[in-house]
Amino acid sequence: MEHHHEPEGVPFSQRPIVVLGAGIIGCATARQLLRDGFPVVLVAEYLPGDQHIQYASAWAGAAWHAAGGITPDQRYFQAVTHRILLKMAQEGPESGVSVVNAREYLEQKPAPDSAIWGRTVVSKAYRCDQFREMHTSEYPSDFNCAWAYETLVTDPTIHMPYLGKQITSLGGQFIRQRVESLQELYDMFPESRVFINASGWGSKNLTDVKDDNCFPERGQNVFLTTDRCDTMYFRNGQEYTYVIPRPFSKGVVLGGVKQQDNLSPEVDLDIAQDEIARAHRLAPEIVPEHPGADAVSHIVGIRPSRKGGFRLDSERRGDRVVVSAYGFGGGGYAFSYGIADAVVKMVEKAERDSVIV
Ligand SMILES: Cc1cc2nc3c(=O)[nH]c(=O)nc-3n(C[C@H](O)[C@H](O)[C@H](O)COP(=O)(O)OP(=O)(O)OC[C@H]3O[C@@H](n4cnc5c(N)ncnc54)[C@H](O)[C@@H]3O)c2cc1C
Repeated sequence: MEHHHEPEGVPFSQRPIVVLGAGIIGCATARQLLRDGFPVVLVAEYLPGDQHIQYASAWAGAAWHAAGGITPDQRYFQAVTHRILLKMAQEGPESGVSVVNAREYLEQKPAPDSAIWGRTVVSKAYRCDQFREMHTSEYPSDFNCAWAYETLVTDPTIHMPYLGKQITSLGGQFIRQRVESLQELYDMFPESRVFINASGWGSKNLTDVKDDNCFPERGQNVFLTTDRCDTMYFRNGQEYTYVIPRPFSKGVVLGGVKQQDNLSPEVDLDIAQDEIARAHRLAPEIVPEHPGADAVSHIVGIRPSRKGGFRLDSERRGDRVVVSAYGFGGGGYAFSYGIADAVVKMVEKAERDSVIV
């Protein structure tokens, strides 16, 4: 058991919750904590508004898409995220979240644990009137079946700065700093007892975490400028192709590709060409076979992936509690606010169990 000097006159409720990482996970969590009245400090190398390749949250698609093969708890995190993003979309354009149509084409008949569960989230009160099976005449014949529904897309170029401003106006504090360990944070905030590790794949290199399951997974997308940005196209199966509208930026994001342990910031034009060709086959009404060079730009970002899936847990470390929420790979936006909600509950439990003695 470690022993710490208890600063006199600092009631526990004024000790900041310290969040390592200011991507969508750290920021969504900070916002929720602040709304609940907790003091919060975020420490991160990259902050909202930054555009570094290592800062995944600047580059995401970012579509809400129900993931297949996940647990009921994980489905619930996605459902909570949907509820909160939908409210943001309804409140106006400031958040960069919008409601769009979706067409999902399935290579195979959906398995029981497939993305089909998402229909309960995207439809009104389970009536499924916003989710329907498409008629065979409506989609390319090489697919087994297809779904039409409404979903949410988040424009990260708007959402991250929006979230940054919200956090600041709620009293949150950002500190731009790279740390080599959690211990460095403990030393910076000796009075704090609850720390949240939302460092993406940074936990691979933190000397007192060293999570070897974390790995960087490079993504590269084509951004195509177009007015036709009201429908998402998603190919469900072996081939990983999507067309994600970004209405506020007047374009669509074409993808995708996943390259494990590749950190190259250089645009690979062969990948871009292949993505345009695949997106054209998926959505010829939006993506021309040969778009003009002036309509095309490129997005390169590193997903914070993790073997075995993301980490979400709370552990005692001496007289501190560390909540870990990292390794969200290609789904950090779709899980974001649900994870924030779960982390807040863990923080409350940590304070109840460990801080108020
Ligand atoms: C091309 C692309 C397309 C994507 N599309 C989608 C999509 O459609 N839908 C979806 O849900 N998701 C999508 N994603 C995934 C999504 O972007 C990520 O899952 C999400 O952004 C991860 O958020 P995060 O906060 O965990 O990590 P990050 O955004 O990477 O943030 C990590 C934070 O931790 C900080 N940090 C790490 N280590 C340290 C350290 N040692 N010291 C200080 N600070 C540190 C960083 O500076 C940063 O602030 C996509 C990703 C890419 C690259």
